[in-house]
Amino acid sequence: MFKSKFFILSLVFFTLILYLSGCSTVFSPEQPKAEQGILDLTQWQFEEDGVIKLNGQWEFYWNQLLEPHQLKDAGIAGMPMTGYINVPGTWKHYRVDDKELPGYGFATYRLHFITEAEERLGLKIPRVFTSYKLYMNGELSASAGTVGSSRKTMTPQYLPQVALFEAQPGENEIIIQVSNYYHRSGGLLEALILGNEKQITGLRERSIAYELFLFGSLIIIGIYHIALLFFIKKDKAPLYFGLFCLLISIRTLLVGESFFIYLFPNFSWETAHKLQTLAFYLGVPLVIMFFNSVFPKDFQAKTTKIINWVGAGFACLVLLTPAGIVTIFNPAFQLFALIVIIYMIVNFIRIIRRKEKEGLLIIIGGIALIIAGLNNIAFLSIWLHDLSAPLLRSVVRTGNLSNVGQLIFVLLNSLELARKFAHALVEREKMTAQLQEINLNLDKLVQKRTKALEEYREQIENQKAELEKVNKALQVLSLKDPLTDLWNRRHYDRTIQLEWNRSLRHKYPLALMMIDIDNFKAYNDCYGHKAGDECLIKVTQTTQEFFKRASDLVVRYGGEEFVVIMPGLGKDEAVNMAQLLRKAIEELHIPHKKSPVSPWVTVSIGVTSAVPDIHGSPQQLFLAVDKALYEAKAAGKNQVKYLPVIDQTERGDSPGDRSQ
Ligand code: GH3
Ligand code: MG
Ligand code: MG
Repeated sequence: MFKSKFFILSLVFFTLILYLSGCSTVFSPEQPKAEQGILDLTQWQFEEDGVIKLNGQWEFYWNQLLEPHQLKDAGIAGMPMTGYINVPGTWKHYRVDDKELPGYGFATYRLHFITEAEERLGLKIPRVFTSYKLYMNGELSASAGTVGSSRKTMTPQYLPQVALFEAQPGENEIIIQVSNYYHRSGGLLEALILGNEKQITGLRERSIAYELFLFGSLIIIGIYHIALLFFIKKDKAPLYFGLFCLLISIRTLLVGESFFIYLFPNFSWETAHKLQTLAFYLGVPLVIMFFNSVFPKDFQAKTTKIINWVGAGFACLVLLTPAGIVTIFNPAFQLFALIVIIYMIVNFIRIIRRKEKEGLLIIIGGIALIIAGLNNIAFLSIWLHDLSAPLLRSVVRTGNLSNVGQLIFVLLNSLELARKFAHALVEREKMTAQLQEINLNLDKLVQKRTKALEEYREQIENQKAELEKVNKALQVLSLKDPLTDLWNRRHYDRTIQLEWNRSLRHKYPLALMMIDIDNFKAYNDCYGHKAGDECLIKVTQTTQEFFKRASDLVVRYGGEEFVVIMPGLGKDEAVNMAQLLRKAIEELHIPHKKSPVSPWVTVSIGVTSAVPDIHGSPQQLFLAVDKALYEAKAAGKNQVKYLPVIDQTERGDSPGDRSQ
């Protein structure tokens, strides 16, 4: 779809160019040619056969500037004709007495044409190198610059123009005086065209229209691309391309119909020539810089630099030397341009081989430009000049090809740029739509994510709480005895210090009791370990029931040993509690037939109590209670023994005060 549109667009462009370029004015190859200074046009009907080029053998008078009346009597007055010369063509290398003529000099040309037309005819005069005076049937009809016999007396000018005249039936005479001291080669280098008034003025108008169209297009395209640089700074390609357009737009007005000179006849030939040459010399580096920025892989920076320096060097030479010298070193630049063209062709082949679709238009444009460039290379046209291919020669020599090539290059590049812009625009629209959608979804997404996060946070919090619970349970577990569910020795160690401190602060007594089952090993041996466990549980339960106060703490200290912390209890209360407990356990009546002290399970209890002292420690309490238990065992078991804390004994508590 896109490709076919593109194809149609390109086709429209090319048709437009070809139509405007006047390539449609094809000259019939069977045109009569002048022979020995005479062109027979009796069979030629301008209206039907079209315009005709006055090509062929013209009379040539070297080193003479002859007026019509002088030539009228040529034969008699001894104005020797040098010979016949081929027009179009330069007189340089024309052989006179086995010597070649130089490029500089002056001469007169004459042609007779025979016609039956009795109408107003027109002559389209091209650029003449480099000044001329044209007489039509004896009358001065056109001129450009000043003809002279030396560089001092002549002034050069390129001024293509049209000369109109009344044709006389029979013989008509055209005399052209030409002098050249400025260009490398002089003479009538381009063809003169004869037709009726309408045809010739039409030809001229079409050419001017085309060139002005070109000029306008190129100027606008050029300015447009240079302006682009202000907005897309990183891409230099539009700048080089824009400058190139401006350069060839100026050149367009100076070559071809030279409309600029027509507007400003006094504009110096020298300057005009230099401008035109500069356009060529600067155009080559600009084109390479352009390709370098479009295909940096192929058109390498190093080579581009070299081409730039050579171009700049030649441009400086143009600015610093007179135009005559420029035409001498011009072939050197043309050779250089040819090398650059070969370099371009090699690169183009490489790019095309890669089969990248991007830039294909630019390549086609580049090829058109190469063909246009070849046109500018004079020695190629000199070589073509000797070739007998009139159509090809006419296309190349008129300069149409150059314009067409450049225009194709420019238009294809503009097309490529338009394609790029359109592509960028479409992409941008797509992206905007995507962005809008993303924006819309973003709100929802954020909400969804926030909710998910909130849930996740709650989950973590729950897990944390659970973990804490487990941790606490674990902690408790590590402080509890699994069999009896009593606090264990570790918990005792922590608590006794706290209770000690608290009692110290409040100056309360702190009582401790140690209980040990009598002959428990024997019980185990007799009834089995499981029964031993059950017995332990029963003793535990009874003990716990005894100590209901929140501050009391029963601990399983070891195998069948229990410790009870009793804050606030003095000696008597503690001993009393111990007695009651001992009794209660005995009255459980758990049989113990192996016990030497009782038929039932009994316990021995050691008791102590003290008001804590700043110099004392809970260990003293423990030592005392342990000793008291030992004494109870030693005294025959199944009894209670009280022992005070050792230090306190020293302070005056009576040591013998023991209860049973
Ligand atoms: P004494 O009257 O001198 O205290 O003699 P004893 O046999 O009670 O003392 P000993 O220290 O020689 O033996 C304690 C026994 O307690 C040894 C062990 O078999 C038993 N024991 C300790 N812990 C447990 C327990 O958790 N379950 C059971 N079934 N027996 C235990
Ligand atoms: Mg024991
Ligand atoms: Mg025991």
